Amino acid sequence: MSILILSGPSGSGKSTLCSAIMKKIPNVYFSISSTTRKPREGEKNGREYHFLSQEEFLKDIEEGNFLEWAQVHSNYYGTSLKPVEEAIDEGKIVVFDVDVQGHHNIKKYYGKLATSVFVTTPSKSVLAERLKGRRTDNEEVIEMRLMHAYNEMKHIDEFDFLIVNDEIQTATEAILSIVQSLRYAQRLEDTQKLLNEWLG
Ligand code: ADP
Ligand code: 5GP
Repeated sequence: MSILILSGPSGSGKSTLCSAIMKKIPNVYFSISSTTRKPREGEKNGREYHFLSQEEFLKDIEEGNFLEWAQVHSNYYGTSLKPVEEAIDEGKIVVFDVDVQGHHNIKKYYGKLATSVFVTTPSKSVLAERLKGRRTDNEEVIEMRLMHAYNEMKHIDEFDFLIVNDEIQTATEAILSIVQSLRYAQRLEDTQKLLNEWLG
């Protein structure tokens, strides 16, 4: 089993890179978070997110359904544990797109099984351009995301890998090679099996 956590400022390209992973690599499960944020144009309930009311979200917290949850840019976001555990049982690579708080908590929960990648842009001004170019958020929301970006950047050192998403082709190659490498990560259960077989 492998877990890949993508974090980084909003607009840095995490969703774009996740889509590339899903398109190119088999046996990957993308963890669909729940959120109280309103759906953007083109987003579908159950595909990008499970869109919940605040009441529904608080009920999920109370019932202990979340592996982790956090408040980001004044909305709630959370990862349900059950589908993640099911995907792990099926031997899938589980990919998370979460903020730095989510990264911290998922790493704490899965320990060495989790590999993390911080995705960012070459500069704050490029980030601003991308957020504006995406045309999904109004000026106020973009301003809040840019303000929050620096708080995310301060956590870069906590991650295993860093991708500066300048040229999309290069960034895509980088994320795909990181995911491919997970297939060769040392896993205690695998090495024990290999040792037994090797001894004959
Ligand atoms: P995030 O999921 O991190 O919020 P997105 O994947 O939505 O970010 O990317 C933000 C915007 O930037 C989108 O419009 C996306 O198409 C665009 N984008 C992503 N990577 C690049 C890149 N390398 N060069 C130019 N535009 C990009
Ligand atoms: P957006 O509103 O742009 O889709 O996401 C905003 C931020 O919330 C991004 O940094 C994204 O990674 C983060 N996020 C999305 N889902 C979760 C989640 O389940 N948990 C946490 N902690 N953060 C999340």
